[in-house]
Amino acid sequence: MITIKTPITELTKVGKSIARQMEKLGIKTAGDLLFHYPFRYDDYSEIFKIKDLKSKKSGTIKAKINLIANHRSPRKKIIITEAIVSDQTDSLKIIWFNQSFLAKILKPGQEVYLAGKISHDEYYGLQLTNPSYEIYRQSPLHTGRLVPVYSSTTRLSQKQIRFLVRQILPLAQEAEDWLPREIRTKYELISLSFALEQIHFPQNKKWLEKASRRLKFNELFLIQMRNQLIKQKIKSQKAIKINLKTDKIKSFIQSLPFKLTDSQRKATWEIVKDLEKETPMNRLLEGDVGSGKTIVAAIAILNVLLAGHQVAYMAPTEILAEQHFKNISKLFKKYPFKIALLTRGKIKTNKEETTKQKLLKMLSVGEINFIIGTHSLIQEKTKFKNLVLAITDEQHRFGVNQRALLTRQSSNHSPHFLSMTATPIPRSVALTLYGDLDISIISQIPPGRKPIITKIIKPKEIKNIYKFTKLEIKNGRQAFITCPLIDPSDKLGVKSVKEEYKKISEEIFPDLKIGLLHGRLKSEQKEKIMKDFSENKINILISTTVVEVGIDVPNASIMIIEGAERFGLAQLYQLRGRIGRSSFQSYCFLFLENEGDLSAQAEKTKKRLQFLIQAKNGFELAEKDLELRGPGEIFGTEQSGFSNDLKIAKLSDIQIIKETRETAKNLFKNASDFKNYPLLIKKINESIRTTHLE
Ligand code: ADP
Ligand code: MG
Repeated sequence: MITIKTPITELTKVGKSIARQMEKLGIKTAGDLLFHYPFRYDDYSEIFKIKDLKSKKSGTIKAKINLIANHRSPRKKIIITEAIVSDQTDSLKIIWFNQSFLAKILKPGQEVYLAGKISHDEYYGLQLTNPSYEIYRQSPLHTGRLVPVYSSTTRLSQKQIRFLVRQILPLAQEAEDWLPREIRTKYELISLSFALEQIHFPQNKKWLEKASRRLKFNELFLIQMRNQLIKQKIKSQKAIKINLKTDKIKSFIQSLPFKLTDSQRKATWEIVKDLEKETPMNRLLEGDVGSGKTIVAAIAILNVLLAGHQVAYMAPTEILAEQHFKNISKLFKKYPFKIALLTRGKIKTNKEETTKQKLLKMLSVGEINFIIGTHSLIQEKTKFKNLVLAITDEQHRFGVNQRALLTRQSSNHSPHFLSMTATPIPRSVALTLYGDLDISIISQIPPGRKPIITKIIKPKEIKNIYKFTKLEIKNGRQAFITCPLIDPSDKLGVKSVKEEYKKISEEIFPDLKIGLLHGRLKSEQKEKIMKDFSENKINILISTTVVEVGIDVPNASIMIIEGAERFGLAQLYQLRGRIGRSSFQSYCFLFLENEGDLSAQAEKTKKRLQFLIQAKNGFELAEKDLELRGPGEIFGTEQSGFSNDLKIAKLSDIQIIKETRETAKNLFKNASDFKNYPLLIKKINESIRTTHLE
């Protein structure tokens, strides 16, 4: 008997090769397949008479095969299978390319369903080309219905997937419906079993809609419940309360070379207030690139350090960790704090040379006040004496796991957590994904900065752009050139960036100093290049996106993005954020690989890039993107670490997001009720276990 756990290899007709393809799709068990939802449907539900199909563009017919035969096309060397089919109303010519086996499967006299598009051939007249076919039966799978289309690999056909899904579909009946009945009733949701059946082989559009609503509800509701649970858990923990040292903080702020923006003040205030509580802070600080999040964090850090406690600051890359170490050490120069840097390649403090072992020791006895680093900070060997504030920068929010790691030694209190991100997320989305967090938003950019001029560049304009770049560099500015990852096997993008380097340094700007930065360089090499760039010893820095985030070189005013269509909006936005960090006018030039390509896909890409050009700030871009987004392309979710949770729901499902949020909140308000739902609790726990919030 097939169960959810039955390996896919035990299904009928699954050999090694199908199993391998399935594995590529992440499907190992029958259960995985059950939850592999179609991503769209072809509507072949209406069965037409041939006469009527001829006046439509596409659809299904039920017809009898009169003739079928293969022949080789004279020009192109391909096999063509030709058939003539008919019903009571008319007859029609059918053509298949390169499917010679069809002439064996389909026999004259047989009744078949054929579904596809009618094309008009000048010579032969109307014909149905490459239609889906299915020998007549009571309930067809591939024709004569809303036909599911699954994401697949090139070597696994839709027919194969449908055949296998049909085999395991009885499993849907056994799916435990963990959603409490009252909620189902209140929101008119169909049962889980029926939803699972209908999502694969819908009876009609109405039921498909209901199935989709139910499954979306599931996903979004689980996220909301998880958020509420985490929120509650954090509320039940104790944190060390940090009172604001008003005078000292004031004088620190006054010593800065600039005035804080109102947004920065407000965010600082919210954080400082959180620190004064006896429950841990759990806050997300959102602000455009360059909006000045670091200084806001620095004020919070200073406050905790002045109280004599430890602080940890985690950056996503070594380069960024080093940059922060340098900048923040400078910022805190007049204070006696011992500040350390810990990454895989670099270990030091602001006071002395040291080794990893010594550093870890100093950290564990509390001699180090403030440590900045990468993921090394949450490794097992890293132990704190008294960690009171933990910050992540430009990274996913603190996940459950990271929290556990950071708090494992100090059992009597939990640190305050602050996550920072430059990924602008629309409010409704933030409430879904980050429902467990309080959110502060820096909506202003420090004054005096000019908006970045962004342009899509046609191939014939590239020369001019290079000329312009040269001029800017003559005037003392610097430029970035970013290359996309071209070959997926080349994960660090080394190949494309090296080619670009050769072209730029030898052909285009032989007289300028060009730097090259990619993920395979040693960290000392990287640091040297970054240092040279920030000291303007390098005019143009060519890099991969490995070094995408947060780097601060205010003198750089040009960003050229090669193969811009290969980047997501969020990524483009982050890349562009490397410039425009001073009072100089900055420019972002988007080079396209396939400019002149007029396909629908290319048009879509250009439209997408247009948003980047028009949006005034990240939040506006995010909102616009949400409004106009096509299926599947979700701004910011990649970074959010939630993409695994959202198979069918979209962040644009605002209505369901609202409903699930409300429902989850209400359940938690009546905690006693909540206890009555053992299935639900089991499901949420499962979901927490399987989520790896990086
Ligand atoms: P991000 O939010 O991207 O982390 P940063 O904190 O790196 O931004 O700040 C970007 C730059 O703006 C830094 O050079 C910083 O010193 C500067 N800055 C921050 N706040 C202000 C302000 N209120 N006025 C002027 N410059 C500021
Ligand atoms: Mg930053």
